[in-house]
Amino acid sequence: MLKGKNAVVTGSTGTIGRAIAQSLADAGANVLLNGFGESDEIEKLRGNLIRRSGGKALYHGADMLHPDEIVAMIGMAEREFGGVDILVNNAGIQHVSPIESFPREKWDDIIAIDLSAAFHAIRATVSGMKARRWGRIVNIASVHGLVASIDKSAYVAAKHGLVGLTREVALETATFGVTCNAICPGWVDTPLVRRQYEARAAREGSPVTEAIAAMLGEKQPSRSFVSPRSIGEAVVFLCGTAADAITGVALPIDGGWVVQ
Ligand code: NAD
Repeated sequence: MLKGKNAVVTGSTGTIGRAIAQSLADAGANVLLNGFGESDEIEKLRGNLIRRSGGKALYHGADMLHPDEIVAMIGMAEREFGGVDILVNNAGIQHVSPIESFPREKWDDIIAIDLSAAFHAIRATVSGMKARRWGRIVNIASVHGLVASIDKSAYVAAKHGLVGLTREVALETATFGVTCNAICPGWVDTPLVRRQYEARAAREGSPVTEAIAAMLGEKQPSRSFVSPRSIGEAVVFLCGTAADAITGVALPIDGGWVVQ
């Protein structure tokens, strides 16, 4: 379905990004990986993507804190693939703390990685998409792009900003065959969330399984984690012809979190 299309997925050494890269490769796309990690592991993943797509896979280690590195990453994809058709802004970090003690540098990093990096990547990519009159931008926001939770000031602000950016870019690109959508996952069992339930278990002196059940019970009516694969498949759907006229949406994949 996406044979011959070239994708960049930021933060794709992580759990959700990896699943997105694999789903895109399964649909035939060439994928440029990005994110931190051991070089052996990254090489293994690159090989895995090549086998899945029968095409190409690249890696660029751009740090999303640095706009010049983001531009260099897009430049590599354009040079080696011949263009970027699909951009998935997925890299993200979290920090949990009451606002009065929220470290200032954590605020700056979360706004830079979870919001500004998407702006820089879209800015570097969109003129090629418009010129080719086809493009798909998918921003991995969060339920926290739609509703708030306590102690997550920077994350909630960044993800609401990312949903706003999604809507704005959808308008700018609407007549060019380019769509821009956001996916808003609920709890997915990844290191970003693991740190939160392990901290809760330690705080409450309870087993981790109880902390997970309590965490899911508070927010996610399905009471089970969202699978990374389902997010990857949703990205492929948004890149397919069924989604040609879907733009500017913020799609919750959240087991019912935001309808309560
Ligand atoms: P993860 O920690 O497994 O992966 C994060 C990825 O981002 C990794 O590849 C990491 O190397 C990369 N990254 C972090 N800082 C970076 C930087 N400065 N430059 C380049 N890459 C960087 O986390 P995840 O849960 O897979 O998160 C992926 C996205 O999904 C994030 O945007 C997150 O906010 C969002 N999300 C996650 C959940 C969840 O429940 N896990 C829910 C909603 C949204």
